[in-house]
Amino acid sequence: MSSTTTAPAALDASKLVIHKTSTPKEKLPNEKLVFGRSFTDHMLTIPWNRTAGWGTPVIKPYAPLTLDPSAVVFHYAFELFEGLKAYRDPKGQIRMFRPDKNMIRMNKSADRICLPTFENEELITLIGELLKVDSSFIPSERGYSLYIRPTMIGTTPGLGVHTPDDALLYVICSPVGPYYSTGFKAVRLEATDYAVRAWPGGVGDKKLGANYAPSVKPQLEAAKRGYQQNLWLFGPEKHVTEVGTMNFFIAFKDSNGVKELVTAPLDGMILEGVTRDSILALCREKLDKKEWKVNERYCSISEIEERAKKGEVVEAFGSGTAAVVSPVKEIGYNSEHISIPILPGEEAGALTKQIAEWIAQRQYGIVESDWSRIVKEQTS
Ligand SMILES: *Cc1c(COP(=O)(O)O)cnc(C)c1O
Repeated sequence: MSSTTTAPAALDASKLVIHKTSTPKEKLPNEKLVFGRSFTDHMLTIPWNRTAGWGTPVIKPYAPLTLDPSAVVFHYAFELFEGLKAYRDPKGQIRMFRPDKNMIRMNKSADRICLPTFENEELITLIGELLKVDSSFIPSERGYSLYIRPTMIGTTPGLGVHTPDDALLYVICSPVGPYYSTGFKAVRLEATDYAVRAWPGGVGDKKLGANYAPSVKPQLEAAKRGYQQNLWLFGPEKHVTEVGTMNFFIAFKDSNGVKELVTAPLDGMILEGVTRDSILALCREKLDKKEWKVNERYCSISEIEERAKKGEVVEAFGSGTAAVVSPVKEIGYNSEHISIPILPGEEAGALTKQIAEWIAQRQYGIVESDWSRIVKEQTS
């Protein structure tokens, strides 16, 4: 065999090998589920090597990885991840929500840090197989789902900073409950300009692990002052970019009563959230065009401050797969407290609640849409 003339293998779901666990875990009751703390019985792993290409995909018992301590992931952050969810519809079918979007984004992240790219549909098929093997972990109650965490790391040993010649793509899954166990809980944000999450020419639009560790300290600082999350500002204009690890939306109304939903444009600093995209699509489709405008545009903290004073801020929320929407009730900026309206006696604005419902209906297949990817389970 002349391996030198063989092209590296493409990712091929038909090569899948499954080793099932002989010691299934005891399942936690739904109310004991904590986001990302407990995992299903199995994981999917696929090795990659520069010459051989993608190796055999294996579903095997969830277990620690063994890596050389000099592996590039540990030293130079050759790591990227994704986050998506699978839901059970009223018929008991498993549905992934827009996995195609996550695959596109994962490949962009991989390309940016010289990790291997792969065939989107093959990985979606393989994740579907993992979901079938671990299907008993997918809760069926509304509000519950299975969080899926595809990950890729560079595994080549050696301390030189160079392109990894070996990588591991793996997928783990965690059954999760509603982000807000007792309905919504509106949060207070600290507008942050002393620390910067992302910058032009940087990698803020990629889901690279390296973007997240540095964001934890500013969050702890904000927490000391009573704020749950950072509202990341950027540039001399102090544009609002994102909130914590979520995209940010704010709704205004002008003096004629016309309302505008605003989120930052995808200028390379903003993570291309699947939830963000879903919200924009739904709002553009469903909101009354005489009453609402939906805009991707820059918005500064001073615009929010000034318009809040005039009573022109309607509501604000963060968006992401984990919480879907996270309502905001206050923004602290310098020594000011900018109040953001929420419905009287409630913890969210009317549009925030409406969006949460629209999205949940599509995630759980209450409303059929081409955003759902149904995992076909054989009935034997
Ligand atoms: C993951 C993430 C989001 C949300 O993306 P979704 O695809 O909606 O989950 C937003 N901002 C940052 C920084 C993120 O890491």
